[in-house]
Amino acid sequence: MALEAWIQSHEVMLRLGCFFGIFFLVALWELVAPRRQLSQSRLTRWGNNIALVVLNSVLLRLVFPAAAVGMAVFAQAQGWGLLNYYELSYWLAVMLSVVALDFFIYLQHVMVHAVPVLWRLHRVHHADLDYDVTTGARFHPIEILVSMLIKFAVIAVIGPPVLAVVLFEIILNATSMFNHGNVRLPAGMDRVLRLLVVTPDMHRVHHSVEDDETNSNFGFNLPWWDRLFGTYRAQPRAGHEHMTIGIHTFRDPRRCCWLDGMLAMPFVGRVTDYAINRRQWNTHDES
Ligand SMILES: [Zn+2]
Ligand SMILES: [Zn+2]
Repeated sequence: MALEAWIQSHEVMLRLGCFFGIFFLVALWELVAPRRQLSQSRLTRWGNNIALVVLNSVLLRLVFPAAAVGMAVFAQAQGWGLLNYYELSYWLAVMLSVVALDFFIYLQHVMVHAVPVLWRLHRVHHADLDYDVTTGARFHPIEILVSMLIKFAVIAVIGPPVLAVVLFEIILNATSMFNHGNVRLPAGMDRVLRLLVVTPDMHRVHHSVEDDETNSNFGFNLPWWDRLFGTYRAQPRAGHEHMTIGIHTFRDPRRCCWLDGMLAMPFVGRVTDYAINRRQWNTHDES
């Protein structure tokens, strides 16, 4: 299909264009109508969070140059995946694929909280002491690589159209920056939007230091999975202005907000029984 060929050849440009465009809009929104006061220097946090994003992008390009789109093209050529097996209309296949990919991302997110060793990687995302647009792209490089491998497997099983994968990557990136935004939305608008998309207030609950709140609201795009599977939490107990962001045992800005600290974070401390099966804070798991 001509559209697919065009998208495939312009994929990087499309994704980068959307990334910078939405980053700029959310950053501007944060300046005009911030939801919370930041506790750390923006210059330090942004510099280090963005350095991590650049490092991840280069690494991903080196290790998996064809990325998820390449995997979709490959699966299609091989006739792999459910949607290459059943004859569905193109646009229905695109829609189903985007929803299915989102569901698997939700499951993956629950898994990286539940499995202690995977939580070590994912806690880099949670250890940010503030919550804003740069938090949305802050992940440990190993988690980024593991995520890509899981995505490859999911694409091989679903067999989505190439357009669906590009759309999904763009939407995931855009909603992640939006729902990590330190932005103020009127309560009524948040309630309505929350029926369709994960809003900043909904995802902020997931960045609370309270473990029952952190283990809620795992969705990135669609808010339905949390409601369907019982992991939904409407608001943080302490309120959005007063809740504490981050991880109870990681409060040192030198470790949480600097690149070297973030890269080392999965390897510090002993393996603990975090997270789903933990009932109380263990202060001794701080290294
Ligand atoms: Zn998480
Ligand atoms: Zn997050």
